[in-house]
Amino acid sequence: MDTVTTPVLELSAAQLVRNVAAVRDHIAPSRLMLAMKDDAYGHGIAWVLDALASDSALNHFGSFDVDTGLRIRECRPDARVFAWTTSADDEIAAALDAGLELGIGTAEYLQRVISGARGRGRAADVHLKIDTGLRRNGVRPEDWGEFVAEAAKAQRAGLLNVIGVWSHLAEASDAEDDEAAAAFRRAVDAVRAAGLSPRDTHLTASAASWWRPELRGTVCRIGAFCYGIRSADGPEIPGIRPVATLRARVVEVREGEATVGIGALHGLPSVLAGAPVGTPAGVRRIRAVGDVATTMDSWDGAQVGDLVSVFGPGESGESDATALAERIDTVGEEILTRLSSTVQRVPV
Ligand SMILES: *Cc1c(COP(=O)(O)O)cnc(C)c1O
Repeated sequence: MDTVTTPVLELSAAQLVRNVAAVRDHIAPSRLMLAMKDDAYGHGIAWVLDALASDSALNHFGSFDVDTGLRIRECRPDARVFAWTTSADDEIAAALDAGLELGIGTAEYLQRVISGARGRGRAADVHLKIDTGLRRNGVRPEDWGEFVAEAAKAQRAGLLNVIGVWSHLAEASDAEDDEAAAAFRRAVDAVRAAGLSPRDTHLTASAASWWRPELRGTVCRIGAFCYGIRSADGPEIPGIRPVATLRARVVEVREGEATVGIGALHGLPSVLAGAPVGTPAGVRRIRAVGDVATTMDSWDGAQVGDLVSVFGPGESGESDATALAERIDTVGEEILTRLSSTVQRVPV
């Protein structure tokens, strides 16, 4: 009997390659920046980059923080890597040394990046961020003119290359996104009027890139759809399937109840009673999620060591992580990124 009882996240490189190709075809002529925050949405940065190694058209990656950007850089010495969040001074220095592109969404951060570039003796490649209504990060339209003028001055001094202008959409309603897109276009015009010529403009992530082609810039920052994670309450997308399948093993069977070796400490939400799980005999329901094990309705012939699947393509209970997420009012990304490092990532 197999005594391994840790849960496994099976990862399909072939499916990842297909998803990335489908996304790229759909958004052309806009170019793809693959979003890799949260360890590539729980799939693992190194695995994802390895799986996509033969895709030479994919050479632009996005990370939330500098640390993640540096990990991408280690795997891809020649790729473009964009780290979009505000960072500490030592991270700025490391990012400049590694040739990362930085997202700049406050006047204060702009000054620190300029200082960092002066200290490092090399110009920083930056993407300026306008706040188009999300109010998360980004320079407000009323402050944009002064911010852009400062950036233009630093570019003339050889300390900055303004290579992009960007923002992020709320995706709450089409009308709000339309307003945000109009504010974004005005911001890009102001940057050009200041004598700068950014080659990249980017506003949209998975959902808007897919369904609102008129909002796409020259680049789309896309994570979820590349990993096969559908939007919560969104439809399935032709050609796109989940990359990951979450499986666990039966560790005990008695009196109509099977216990499987996955629980809240592995990152499974503890409120999933009633959720379907795929078993060798078809779908059965979860009874209770414990710390390291979950009880569920058993089946005829259930045996210790049997594999069940919590989500993923194929014969699983829920067809994807988003279906599981919809039960508890969250998004598929969260189901995947919550899975702890004790869940073994297994390429299939
Ligand atoms: C997460 C994120 C993305 C990618 O979003 P998806 O919906 O996963 O495609 C793009 N841009 C920013 C700023 C993000 O935080």
